[in-house]
Amino acid sequence: MTTPKTEKTQIAEICAAIHARRRFLISSHARPDGDSIGSQLAMAYALEALGKEVRIVNADPAPEHYMEFPGVERIEIARAVERSDADAVIVMESGDLTRTGVSGLEGRFTINIDHHQGNTHYGSLNWVDESAAACGEMVFALVEALGVPLTIEIATHVYLAILTDTGSFHYANITPRTFEICRRAVDAGVNPGAMARRVFDQNSFGKLKLIGALLAEMDLLDGGRLAAMYLNDHIMNATGTTYNDTEGLINLPLTAREIQAVVFFKLGADGDLHVSMRSKYDVDVRAIAARHGGGGHKNAAGFKVQGPLSAVRDGILAELGEAIAVGVQTRP
Ligand code: 5GP
Ligand code: MN
Repeated sequence: MTTPKTEKTQIAEICAAIHARRRFLISSHARPDGDSIGSQLAMAYALEALGKEVRIVNADPAPEHYMEFPGVERIEIARAVERSDADAVIVMESGDLTRTGVSGLEGRFTINIDHHQGNTHYGSLNWVDESAAACGEMVFALVEALGVPLTIEIATHVYLAILTDTGSFHYANITPRTFEICRRAVDAGVNPGAMARRVFDQNSFGKLKLIGALLAEMDLLDGGRLAAMYLNDHIMNATGTTYNDTEGLINLPLTAREIQAVVFFKLGADGDLHVSMRSKYDVDVRAIAARHGGGGHKNAAGFKVQGPLSAVRDGILAELGEAIAVGVQTRP
């Protein structure tokens, strides 16, 4: 029986692998969020501080309002890496390599850094810490271990990762360490008020209309404990919005006191039905996502199914009803 490696050993192995290599290719999951953007760019700036060459390749562009954060414009958007002389691939936030939506990463020396349950350990080195509130927390530890000074660019991206992946400090996985890292980021020059405005107060008027339309058509179920929202082309056309405008909207119904879980059914351009879920306290939506081949965290998870909505909706709502019944028993 092999004993599991300590975190210290895992970090030391990754640092050694980084020091021994020169050219890096960084990627993360498709449809990147604040944690994937922040983790990738904090890592990129740290590697460049060490004199390394870095390319970042993502399947999809960052949400529009992240474009003004440092370095986001340099992320290459591609579904395949045709040519690369990289000595190592660093993949953030992806339970398996296919979650990147980028082909051509296979068969290289790969460093897999993630905080999701169910990571398949596809890397040459795998560091998976399910207790981390954001992948950005793990990148912060790496930056420290590499001996790279905490520049404003790195601090900004680490803070972005934590701010977004904790649902602006709402989720259950926040620890003293989360605040210690944020303290260090603020010490390095990050302005928390400005960050919150830049990340959360960026709605277009179209998005406000989209919010109105989605909430008007929202279903309240399970005696008001469960909300279901639905996105389709019709709503987006009527409000002049795109799929990217839906980021964060799933959290709105959770602000109602009674609501324990929210499900957002989004029909994507690929014809797949994306099912996003959020919950409060001990209501576990990750287990539901895992049963459908997806993943995530206890309070934020998702999966894809082949539609149509009418065929899968009732079954998913029933599963959520059960998760709520179990979860509310331990509600503080
Ligand atoms: P979101 O609802 O914002 O798309 O995702 C919430 C969480 O669930 C994130 O941690 C995300 O990585 C995870 N997630 C969403 N969709 C999928 C999926 O199709 N597969 C897996 N493995 N995780 C997903
Ligand atoms: Mn994350």
